[in-house]
Amino acid sequence: MAAEPLISTQLWSAIIDSPLSKLTEIVPPPKKPKGVGTAAQWSKAESELGISLPDDYRQFIETYGSGLFAGFYVIYSPGEKSPYSNLVKRQKLMQPIYESHEDRPYAVHPERPGLLVWGADENGNYYYWLTKGTPDKWTVVAEHGREEEFDHHKCSMVKFLLGVQQLKIRALAKGYPPLIMRCPNEGCCGWALGSHGDNDEWHCEACAYDWSDRASFEEAIAEAIEKHAHRRACYVKKKGHFYPADREKEPSNYKKLVSKEFDE
Ligand SMILES: [Zn+2]
Repeated sequence: MAAEPLISTQLWSAIIDSPLSKLTEIVPPPKKPKGVGTAAQWSKAESELGISLPDDYRQFIETYGSGLFAGFYVIYSPGEKSPYSNLVKRQKLMQPIYESHEDRPYAVHPERPGLLVWGADENGNYYYWLTKGTPDKWTVVAEHGREEEFDHHKCSMVKFLLGVQQLKIRALAKGYPPLIMRCPNEGCCGWALGSHGDNDEWHCEACAYDWSDRASFEEAIAEAIEKHAHRRACYVKKKGHFYPADREKEPSNYKKLVSKEFDE
């Protein structure tokens, strides 16, 4: 008799097609996630908050840990020792501040539905669950730190973070998530940093050159690949825009070829 598989095909495909699994393809998780916390710490946090936390959040923390995520977000966890990124401590800190604001568009936890904070970002924006319905139905509210404006995203926390990385949800920060490509300037084998936005600047640290927007940066790429065959392998064109190609496709003597460009 054949052995029973440990995981059914159905369950397995649910795991590999999950938003979290898609997220790990874009943002590689750390080898040792920190602040994951013990089962006892999670139970204690849930009893202190008087609420169960969403499964996708728990799986996210088990995968990525707490703290900095994708170079921009700071995610809180019940297992985090630091008061800056401990979920319960942050919520207790936030609650009186938020309650003191007049004209608030949402109630705050423990009121239901209310805002329960799960993270922040490097620009001082805050991210909450709106605790409406069962935890798997909770949606995301993003607060623009400076303007006290709120965006409601009707998806879970992990789907929100995935949407930002997939460029389906617009991040609150200009120029996020960043995009890195080979600098197209002649003789420079450095990397230029910019974003998926049309109006953000592009900059190469190596040759200290700036392009005012994506269009002028892409014009420079078009010229570079027209002029030098070895530059073509650095970029792929999708839907009218250049993106970085797989680095392994670059010629192994790329740096040498670039250094000789002025002689061509
Ligand atoms: Zn450069």
